[in-house]
Amino acid sequence: MKHVIAMDLGGTKIFAAVVTEKGKIVKQVKAATHLSGGWPALKKQIVSICKDLMNSGNKITAIGIGSAGPLHAKSGVLLDPTNFGWKKKKINFVKDLSKNLKIPIVFDNDAVAAVLGERWLKHSPANTVCITLGTGLGVGVLIDDKILRGRGGLHSEGGHLILRPQDHDAHCECGAPGCAEGFLSGVNFVKWVSKKTNRKFKDAKELSELAKNGDIEVSRFFAEYAELMAQYLCSIVVLYYPSEIVFSGSFAQASDLFLPQTQKIMAESLARQQAAHKIIPKIRVSRLDNNNGLLGAGYMAFQYKTYHK
Ligand SMILES: [Zn+2]
Repeated sequence: MKHVIAMDLGGTKIFAAVVTEKGKIVKQVKAATHLSGGWPALKKQIVSICKDLMNSGNKITAIGIGSAGPLHAKSGVLLDPTNFGWKKKKINFVKDLSKNLKIPIVFDNDAVAAVLGERWLKHSPANTVCITLGTGLGVGVLIDDKILRGRGGLHSEGGHLILRPQDHDAHCECGAPGCAEGFLSGVNFVKWVSKKTNRKFKDAKELSELAKNGDIEVSRFFAEYAELMAQYLCSIVVLYYPSEIVFSGSFAQASDLFLPQTQKIMAESLARQQAAHKIIPKIRVSRLDNNNGLLGAGYMAFQYKTYHK
């Protein structure tokens, strides 16, 4: 049985694991992302995690890393990551890591890894969009079994579509007023609701529990979230016509608080197009226990010889 190291590198946490070629996780590590010391500190942390996993008893053939972006996957460069809070704009991520870890490293956006994880383990069809809801809002688009990218292979940053151009209440680190990630990522949703209500909330989990327990003020924001998410998903649908949209990430657990309403609004908004051609996709939460990005990074590692060909 072949083994690789898979890593899901987020703005808050790092998940890493040894993964088998059947997509089974045999050893897993979770840590808070070391961001305050800049790239040197994070690099040291990644190298240390990988070396520990490489010494854990299984022969490792490659490392796959799905990371928060923006990034250029093929050249292995991290470009001013929105949620890392660093001044450095361009980091030779793969080159720097390769100096310390002498095995192949495959690098890509974390939402790309998420959609590849869903596809690899046969949970999703060949036309799937994965939306990761955590510190940021990530979008991975698989159409006809190919990852869609922007010019020159740059990963598209679909989380930064503008929903409300004049609205400065929600804040996204990208700096654009009204950006989708400013409202819809778990972390930014908490900040937005805190600002609008003058109340302090610890995290998205606390907000979800308050809404479930009937907090009217908080529930109103989940209703607004549902509307914004519907507006966002309608754009995704008419751009790509996926058969399926899959949510993952920590805030996906709160989907029962917005998804039914989101789907209702989508059905109304897309009714005319839907009548002509069934465009409304199946929408669901990942069944991979929030590990689709991690497992997808494992898939990338197994494909290391051909991944960027
Ligand atoms: Zn943004």
